Amino acid sequence: MGLNDTPMSDRIHIGFFGRRNAGKSSVVNAVTGQELAVVSDVKGTTTDPVYKAMELLPLGPVVIIDTPGIDDEGELGELRVKKTRQILNRADIAVLISDASLPLEKSDEQLIALFKEKDIPYIIVRNKSDLLKELPESKENECYVSALKKDGIYELKEKIAHLIKTSDEEKRIVGDLIKPSDICILVVPIDTAAPKGRIILPQQQTIRDILDANASAIVVKENELSSTFKKLNVKPAMVITDSQVFKQVSEDTPRDIPLTSFSILMARYKGFLDTAVRGAAALDKLKEGDKILISEGCTHHRQCDDIGTVKIPRWLKNYLGFEPVIETTSGREFPENVTDYSLVIHCGGCMLNEREMKYRMKTAADQGVPFTNYGICIAYMQGILKRSIEMLPDISQICDLKNSDKN
Ligand code: SF4
Repeated sequence: MGLNDTPMSDRIHIGFFGRRNAGKSSVVNAVTGQELAVVSDVKGTTTDPVYKAMELLPLGPVVIIDTPGIDDEGELGELRVKKTRQILNRADIAVLISDASLPLEKSDEQLIALFKEKDIPYIIVRNKSDLLKELPESKENECYVSALKKDGIYELKEKIAHLIKTSDEEKRIVGDLIKPSDICILVVPIDTAAPKGRIILPQQQTIRDILDANASAIVVKENELSSTFKKLNVKPAMVITDSQVFKQVSEDTPRDIPLTSFSILMARYKGFLDTAVRGAAALDKLKEGDKILISEGCTHHRQCDDIGTVKIPRWLKNYLGFEPVIETTSGREFPENVTDYSLVIHCGGCMLNEREMKYRMKTAADQGVPFTNYGICIAYMQGILKRSIEMLPDISQICDLKNSDKN
């Protein structure tokens, strides 16, 4: 992905499924106008899907998830069902490719059942329409195409676009909390964990959202914060900080200036802030021997460096007064069963889309396991969470934070 592209996590994820004989690869290639190489289309090789970010008109920025062709033999095996469920946890839309000259197979029906189970909008593509004497009338979630002759491909893209529910109100990171001409101060520590020559994605996205709101962003390192307040002759609308320097920034920021963190704003943007705030409060119920799962959304995360493996475990030990049992996961894997854990602490999830983040949160919630994220957990342990969510009255009202008066 180039530096100017839409982040993967903000793109619509479209999963293509179906049997190899139904012409899945040809339909994917006709829709995308590119040859997507699914190595696993060859029988007996890996079952991993291929992810490809692209601009797809009239849809805009998308991620195409090309899944390996299903064998043309009977039902989906257990592994295939498991893999499909995992893919559906991050797909916004599912497209099932089938052969128009044949009735739907058992495996097709199984896939449709999985789409329904995961509540994913889907469309059934009846390919090889050129083999039919007459085109039957398409049902609402059905589309007849011929990948060979490129017939019906545009209509298919239109139908996919229709499935994408665009919410009336565009979601904002911070733009809805500020007014034009406001000044926001962003605190970005530049330590060894900071990526070379750039700032990380949530910070870039926040700056962009402030500019979209016709407000101003001043970006400083933590040691410049106090002098920046002195130089300004107006009161800033808010301070937004990286969670790792929360404590110092909270001490340096006058009490009448609203303070929050990038993590809190991103959790709100991804729709799980209230759960994460409640989850952090579960820290006070932990007992010796309880297990905590620390989960990261990607494996190449120089920007998160040792937060999950070193810093949070150390802060947890200090806060709890005993050494908790910690297990970790990273990347696309997230355990389906988390009942062994008393708390899940997740990273900010900047590389995961909203559906995946919500899925992880829901997995924990359905099993009665509290779920929080790094920044919110850190703010809670440092006793400054209440202050950090004060500007979000909907959230602060529902949360009774026991340790809120520490600062
Ligand atoms: S997905 Fe998580 S671990 Fe990876 S860079 Fe983003 S916040 Fe860090």
